[in-house]
Amino acid sequence: MSDLPLHPETLAVHAGRSDLGALGVHAAPIDLSTTNPLPDILHGGDSYESMANGGHPLAEGGNVYARLWNPTVARFEDALAELEHADASVAFASGMAAMTAAILSHTTAVGRHHVVAVRPLYGGTDHLLDSGLLGVEVTFCDEDAVADSIRPDTGMIVLETPANPTLDLVDIAAVVAQAGEVPVLVDNTFATPMLQNPLDLGAAMSLHSATKYIGGHGDVIAGVIACSEQTAEALRRVRAITGALLHPLGAYLLHRGLVTLPVRIQTQQAAARTLAAKLTDHPAVVAVHYPELDDTRGLVGRQMRGGGAMIALRLAGGYAAAESLTGAVRLFTHAVSLGGVDSLIQHPAALTHRPVAPEARPGADVVRLSIGLENVDDLLADLEQALAKVPVAARAGA
Ligand SMILES: *Cc1c(COP(=O)(O)O)cnc(C)c1O
Repeated sequence: MSDLPLHPETLAVHAGRSDLGALGVHAAPIDLSTTNPLPDILHGGDSYESMANGGHPLAEGGNVYARLWNPTVARFEDALAELEHADASVAFASGMAAMTAAILSHTTAVGRHHVVAVRPLYGGTDHLLDSGLLGVEVTFCDEDAVADSIRPDTGMIVLETPANPTLDLVDIAAVVAQAGEVPVLVDNTFATPMLQNPLDLGAAMSLHSATKYIGGHGDVIAGVIACSEQTAEALRRVRAITGALLHPLGAYLLHRGLVTLPVRIQTQQAAARTLAAKLTDHPAVVAVHYPELDDTRGLVGRQMRGGGAMIALRLAGGYAAAESLTGAVRLFTHAVSLGGVDSLIQHPAALTHRPVAPEARPGADVVRLSIGLENVDDLLADLEQALAKVPVAARAGA
């Protein structure tokens, strides 16, 4: 686009739009064609074969069929790849579809049947790995035990940082060092490409539930993985075969969402930082989990450019306090998901992390907040009025 290295804010506005001038349009078109007229059998067939193996469409043969290639999705993928300092990215129907394709392409597709997973992870990821549905064995471990957990048939290592829901940080470079030749996937959903670029630290894949910050408005379910072109081919092959596609309308909205990602993250992060500091001394709160607090290893600054906009609270009154807090807030919506323009609150043990094995499940006293774009004083006032109503001591047995 330009010979000068561009800042992320500029890339967010311009990336993935280089073909628009030649098309004579200013906003990206939404291409809804499921099939495409073929120039002739030979060239159409060659293009089909290229894409079925994970490659690009061939110019002479065209896009053939939308399960193989869609221009609106490809524009979003180009843009996300630039923001993640990656050669390529591959978009999917959901974050879980992306995770599934990453696992299949690195395990059963290449004759390896073992995954090392650093806990804690998003409940759905933990569930997918633990379920055995994909025919792989999984060793769950903490970040110091990755090297010891690797076997000759280990196909990949999965980690998440900041991790859902407790905002624990994992040292990406330290895990990469333990991994040797084994590719490392980082779930970068909480940090977004604005705050963290795992590929710069040696990770092979940066995965996003684009449903969260990248979409940012709570109206698209999607996933995306930034990686090398070679890895992208393996992922597109799985996507073409299994059909876990991102719909072009979703891709259009995500591409549009990227434009405001930098300003959303900066504003939401500033509010989260303020709220985390203010809540630390609240009598109803035992602990505030926020990446900039208790960052003894200095990972904020070294691997992450700020703490992000997610906060977890441990409540003195335990489950009863969580029940009362989620009912008493007025501006925060009591709902799962995160990363949108409006603030949400949820109870991970009962909801997002319900399928996780009991020993790895968050405590019943934990609530998770996703801080939106509302005025921070209004959010603080809402939390204070709601916290004033919650029990501050756990009931016996609760
Ligand atoms: C939501 C989420 C996912 C799953 O993404 P979906 O888009 O819901 O399929 C994966 N990882 C993290 C960290 C998430 O928050």
